[in-house]
Amino acid sequence: MALVPSFTNFILLWALTYALVFGSYLVFGAAFTWWSGRHPERKIQPRRDGQKRRNKEIKASARSLIVTCGCFAGGLHLQLMGYTLFAPWALTWWSAPLMFLGSVLLFDTWFYWVHRLGHAEPFKKYHLLHHQSVAPTVWSNYSDTFFDAFTQQSFFLFMPLIVPFPPAIFIAHRTFDHFNGMIGHSGFEFAAGPSSRAPWPLASVTFHDMHHSTFNYNYANHFSFWDRLMGTLHPRYDSAVLAMEEKIAGDRPAEDPALAVKRER
Ligand SMILES: [Zn+2]
Ligand SMILES: [Zn+2]
Repeated sequence: MALVPSFTNFILLWALTYALVFGSYLVFGAAFTWWSGRHPERKIQPRRDGQKRRNKEIKASARSLIVTCGCFAGGLHLQLMGYTLFAPWALTWWSAPLMFLGSVLLFDTWFYWVHRLGHAEPFKKYHLLHHQSVAPTVWSNYSDTFFDAFTQQSFFLFMPLIVPFPPAIFIAHRTFDHFNGMIGHSGFEFAAGPSSRAPWPLASVTFHDMHHSTFNYNYANHFSFWDRLMGTLHPRYDSAVLAMEEKIAGDRPAEDPALAVKRER
């Protein structure tokens, strides 16, 4: 009998997750589009207008988020019900950031391999919808089929059952992934710097943008090390990040007031 209220709780959690994720997708997406539009110098593919696909991508996201949020709510619900291999570890000031980093590293590995699966036969046809966005925008993050949504996001369904991180870690990670994924698809570079090119492993916005514009490179999510290791990093990725840094720096007003005055004359 206890299964009935439990199932009701799961449905409520799923609905709440969907409302929060889809609602913040619309609000944050609109705000970020407005804000990034004020920085044309940061546009990665200036000749393409990805916003033309906005309505199609919002519709596709409304569908795929049913699966994404179902995976997350399912994992959280089962974990809260105690269906886990191990008891969750305690959350302390030092264990929380370590577990968060552990979850992000695990997800990056998961994402790299399921994403490569999505580029291989016979699964490729289920991943092509996401690649209709050649110049991605904030709206493209969830423009996925159910196959993409399930293979990529079922991390949050299975990991809470087998990895002893407490629910707060998975909630924080999914929240981070939500906004990071939208910014990572925005088409505007805000993360270019020495830490996002060789020899450092962080991925800038250009990293996944190049995945959309060139298709067969840069499969990972947060870091570039899986692509470097497996030989799938775009050969011009590091130089593209450096070129973007120089472009952004060149468009800034001169730091030296004397130079600024000279320019005004
Ligand atoms: Zn892909
Ligand atoms: Zn993408």
